[in-house]
Amino acid sequence: MKNRRRRGGAFPPRNHDHRLCMNRALNKAAAICKKRGARLTDLRRRVFEIVWAGHKPQGAYHILEALRRRHGGAQPPTVYRALDFLLEQGLIHRLESLNSYVGCSVPEVIHAGQFLICGNCGLAAEINDKRIDEAVRDGAAEAGFAVAKRTIEVEGLCPFCQQAERSAANG
Ligand SMILES: [Zn+2]
Ligand SMILES: [Zn+2]
Ligand SMILES: [Zn+2]
Repeated sequence: MKNRRRRGGAFPPRNHDHRLCMNRALNKAAAICKKRGARLTDLRRRVFEIVWAGHKPQGAYHILEALRRRHGGAQPPTVYRALDFLLEQGLIHRLESLNSYVGCSVPEVIHAGQFLICGNCGLAAEINDKRIDEAVRDGAAEAGFAVAKRTIEVEGLCPFCQQAERSAANG
């Protein structure tokens, strides 16, 4: 069993081959859509690729700008409809605190998602810790609270930015 608690484990190494991440994500998305009979149109696929361009959440405006490079006349509603589709299929997550979207690495599993967001470089890593999910559910149940959305967003400093700070401090 691989050790998920390893330091920085949720954050992909800086120099990893991101094309592999993208390909894996695209293949999963295509398979999931096919299985559900949902149509991953060219445009939806393109929006998905833009969201997945890195491990940094992307705002709708940036997505629209990037989309227009290929789909010239794309209007905001087009982007929002594509984003809604991707959200419904669980292929991406919406981060409320940043008003932006990020690709999901485990779309095959239904989950709320917990995110560690770097306030310095903007990297976001998804962790799916059942214990956190259960604690939220139990706490809400004890309070008699009906939960609508369980996505958790934690802000801080990613391992790379901490490392940069340490080396800067050490001269
Ligand atoms: Zn990657
Ligand atoms: Zn996810
Ligand atoms: Zn960072």
